[in-house]
Amino acid sequence: MILWTTIPIGFLLLLNKFSDGNQDFGYDGSYGPSHWADKYQSCVGKHQSPINIDEHNVKNISLAPLKFFGLNTPRSSFVTNNGHTVMIKTNESEMATVSGGPLGDDIYVFEQLHFHWGENDYEGSEDLINNHSFAMELHAVFYKQEYKTMSEAIGHPDGLAVFAYFYEADDKQNPTYDYIVEMLPNVEMVNSKHELEEPLLLEHLLAPNVSTMQNYYTYNGSLTTPPCFEIVTWIDFKDPQLLSHEQLAAFRNVRTSDGNKLTHNFRPVQPLSDRLVYRNMFNVEDDVRSIKNHRQDAGDTRNDHNGERSIRSDVVTSIFFVVLALLATI
Ligand SMILES: [Zn+2]
Repeated sequence: MILWTTIPIGFLLLLNKFSDGNQDFGYDGSYGPSHWADKYQSCVGKHQSPINIDEHNVKNISLAPLKFFGLNTPRSSFVTNNGHTVMIKTNESEMATVSGGPLGDDIYVFEQLHFHWGENDYEGSEDLINNHSFAMELHAVFYKQEYKTMSEAIGHPDGLAVFAYFYEADDKQNPTYDYIVEMLPNVEMVNSKHELEEPLLLEHLLAPNVSTMQNYYTYNGSLTTPPCFEIVTWIDFKDPQLLSHEQLAAFRNVRTSDGNKLTHNFRPVQPLSDRLVYRNMFNVEDDVRSIKNHRQDAGDTRNDHNGERSIRSDVVTSIFFVVLALLATI
């Protein structure tokens, strides 16, 4: 317990260090991923991210639907370049939240979203699927509402949920991303900040296709940048979106704190160790399955309490759908 209560203060110090644009970590040479553990011990943990998701080595499971709230509220937003990525945050006080799926009844609050990309269209994502690297990956970071703030949540093993969205290169421009790509030159330099001219509708980025929103992989892992804390429930949506080659290339012009172009900012995959990856098979008529049993199969007892909670919420949701079906037949 002493460990976890001391981490938020440490993290705030780290945030301060990161925000001044100093090169604390990078993606090449002596600042690269193989050196992160020199300063940040958690980066050599057993449950690190990203990972390769091997489709032939996942457990199928039926979880309660993911439920978003507030994604369709237009929000004034700003974009920043912290030297490691391009990040979008919203100004609105009204929160966007998510629950359901592996999160059970717990509510997680939207904090920020950011991107990972590569030197060319054949690499860039952090998690891989069947060793396939996507051209880009968006991370939408949510913290557990119970912990009130991001900095407090970061000190708890169930503190964060990160939603990962993959992108493939295409010949056609994706108009949804036009306004983000067009403002990238405004945040080319580190610590620059730019207000988006149009209000941001998070649903365009985080729920682009409602019909495929329940098709995802989920596993327990870490932040993919220092301090690499193992506090993240990852939810990786299976279906990639498309961006044009030019739209992807625009991200590679953003610069690091030493003035060089940030041509790539993905961490190499880490060992899966004793973890299981789940593939959600969304079907409300399936028998409710126990994520707890699966986790015990893997010897991963860290989140047993989450498993119990997920089962409870599954049962409640199943009853809800049965009642809904009965009502519909009346
Ligand atoms: Zn990320």
